[in-house]
Amino acid sequence: MVFRIGPKSEVLFGEHASDQTGERTKLLGCSKVLCVYDPGVKDAGVVAPILENLRKAGLEIVEYGKVLPDPPDTMVNECGELARKAKVDGIVGVGGGSTLDTAKAVNVMLGNPGPIENYYLGPGAQGHKPGKPLVLVPTTAGTGSEITYVAVLTRTALNMKNGVLGPATIASLAIVDPLLTLGLPPAITAATGMDTFAHALEAYTAAGQNMMSDMLSEKAIELTVHYLPRAVKKGSDVEARTNMSFACLIAGMAFTDAKTHFGHAFGHSLGSRHHIPHGTGCAIAQPGVIAIVADLMPKKVRRVGELMGLTLADNLSSAELGKRVSDRIAAFGKEIGVPTLRQLNIKESDLVPLAEGLMKDVCFSFMPIKLGLEDVLKVIQELHAR
Ligand code: NAD
Repeated sequence: MVFRIGPKSEVLFGEHASDQTGERTKLLGCSKVLCVYDPGVKDAGVVAPILENLRKAGLEIVEYGKVLPDPPDTMVNECGELARKAKVDGIVGVGGGSTLDTAKAVNVMLGNPGPIENYYLGPGAQGHKPGKPLVLVPTTAGTGSEITYVAVLTRTALNMKNGVLGPATIASLAIVDPLLTLGLPPAITAATGMDTFAHALEAYTAAGQNMMSDMLSEKAIELTVHYLPRAVKKGSDVEARTNMSFACLIAGMAFTDAKTHFGHAFGHSLGSRHHIPHGTGCAIAQPGVIAIVADLMPKKVRRVGELMGLTLADNLSSAELGKRVSDRIAAFGKEIGVPTLRQLNIKESDLVPLAEGLMKDVCFSFMPIKLGLEDVLKVIQELHAR
């Protein structure tokens, strides 16, 4: 088997790592940077010390603090225009996946002409040249955007998620400081942490799985199962936060090469139709991921069960294994506070459009097995019945 391990950004990881943001950004050759963030992160008090740190290093700052969740391309174009006019020579993104993806997409606009829509993945997509030095400072532990190549945006014309991917969307430096996540409220901790779990489980079972992504995925599953409940219960638990930030990072590394599949396609479809947070949508779908791969990769399903604390008899059929592990994942989600589809008021009549949307999503092409509408609907109906 031939597989590719793509380039990984330089990473500075650990408590207080963000104290080096100014100095490190300057070392990248920047003198005037665009700092991108959203109002929630600013209100949480996370942005001010980083701005101060950038100033202390002698950097001029242009601020864009209006990032929206599930960043719309229209907003990226607005921010990109600001950055072009201000002639910044670097970008620092401070926030969750929405902010980091905005920073990445704006970096595409700094190195290339036209609006961001020109660079969407898919038929007719244009390649793009590198932008400016890009420093990404995550404040959630979920998406792994700090290490992945893709910027996930809302394609407003089609009301769907789409990606932009290329040299300008790879961070020059990721600064992962778990202390920045201490103030994350329990519900966002849960949703983002389950996004990490979903990256790991889907990378572990995707068509593009490989030895490296498997190793990273197994560790990320183990860490998430152990530390996410602690981080949700007590946000100030530094050990739990540190391990979740690390799990997020390595799950991001895993899925960058192996890709994600059913759960993310489901999360995107649910998110764009019903405005459910990305991590929540992906989390709800994870028992379905196991149902899909149970016959295809029983050894891996068993391993996931073991990593999640199950004792599984040797003679279980693949169907029994699948059921046990799916149930364990659903119970884990419940423990973390992931709502069910019914609790989110998703009705039977919503399921067909949900399935159709899911099958159009780019992640669906990374499924380890080909499924038709009937099969997809069956899995979604089972999720709805939980
Ligand atoms: P987010 O960035 O949308 O943030 C969610 C909320 O958390 C916001 O209100 C924000 O203000 C708040 N927040 C963030 N950090 C905080 C902190 N430290 N304290 C208090 N509040 C804080 O959420 P997210 O889940 O990190 O990102 C979701 C986005 O990332 C989606 O658009 C998704 O599609 C995308 N995504 C991208 C990748 C990738 O590889 N690029 C991977 C997965 C998901």
